[in-house]
Amino acid sequence: MTARVVLRNPRRELTIDAPKRVKVVLRELAIDPDAVLVIRGEELLTREDLIEADDDIEIRPVISGGAVDVHTKCRRCGAKGVIELRRHNAAFCKECFLHFFTEQTKRAIEHEKMLEPTDRILVAVSGGKDSLALWDVLIRLGYDTTGYHIVLWTGEEYAPESLRYTQAFADERGVKLIVCDVREELGFAIPELPRTTGRPTCGACGLTKRHQISKAAFDLGFDVVCIGHNLDDEAAVLLGNVLRWDTEYLARQSPVLPSTEEGFVKKVKPLFRLSERETAAYAFLRGIDYQVEECPLVAGNTQLRYKAALDLLERDAPGTKAAFYLGFLERAKPELVNVEKPPMHTCPSCGMPTPGETCAFCKMSAVHEKKKR
Ligand code: SF4
Ligand code: ZN
Repeated sequence: MTARVVLRNPRRELTIDAPKRVKVVLRELAIDPDAVLVIRGEELLTREDLIEADDDIEIRPVISGGAVDVHTKCRRCGAKGVIELRRHNAAFCKECFLHFFTEQTKRAIEHEKMLEPTDRILVAVSGGKDSLALWDVLIRLGYDTTGYHIVLWTGEEYAPESLRYTQAFADERGVKLIVCDVREELGFAIPELPRTTGRPTCGACGLTKRHQISKAAFDLGFDVVCIGHNLDDEAAVLLGNVLRWDTEYLARQSPVLPSTEEGFVKKVKPLFRLSERETAAYAFLRGIDYQVEECPLVAGNTQLRYKAALDLLERDAPGTKAAFYLGFLERAKPELVNVEKPPMHTCPSCGMPTPGETCAFCKMSAVHEKKKR
């Protein structure tokens, strides 16, 4: 009487004695239930669900989130819950969870005045859960969206695979996708940059992504750029900024970056109220096929350390991340309005606004060109 369990990232397969409750299996495998989705076929399992003999179970990491012991009934309709949200001390069935997720996104968009119904929106999409969940919810809410996918070549197999997920999503829904291949358009792949420019991989990658999407949005006349950053991402960035007391970055950190300069298209993050686990659950329950594997270069990402630290706090005190980030927006950020902003110029090389003479991206590209020979 056994069941097959597949762990993703790194991939491992094992068999377990069945029947057994999910929470028992997770405890035996020393897996934090807050950091995974437990999947059987098309359904999500809660900690109280029973794994039966011959079941095929996938344990999919999502980094963060929550689970409760007792509230396994849907808070909204009383049906069997499929996802537990410990910070809300609630569980939801599939339909009510999708409703909850959509309402949270709508509330963020309306409350922060992120989008107008007539806006032409460029959505940054990587093929991962956050960006595809965001694109899906925006399409469902009736917005005029176009996807923008950057092929970064962080892995020879990983890159075309990311594009396949994104392209399949766009094709299924009949929405437009713009693809930017950095090798073709910029003449380099991300893994080349640390050696030539001395920048950490993720720093160089982030700079490239921000530059390319901002430039594309401006050149193609989009009104807004939508980014799939979730609550966990924003809380991790905030922790980094606080640890360095970087007041300039703290003053700028916001779910809405308005178009203050000619050439800078407004950027918004409609998922900032939703955790990474909630986003993963939404993508799964909507049947979105996303790339579960992480970027092969993720190990050097400093944000992961901040996420791990926040996960630790969240595990014992659900709601910590939300209190930290949403509290910052509500109470600390208004105090930072007078932090001086550097005067902006136009980058002579790419035409984008920049606080320096030449923008950071063009400087990096120039150094790369010089050193690569
Ligand atoms: Fe880029 Fe780092 Fe993200 Fe990979 S993990 S896509 S290198 S920022
Ligand atoms: Zn430039």
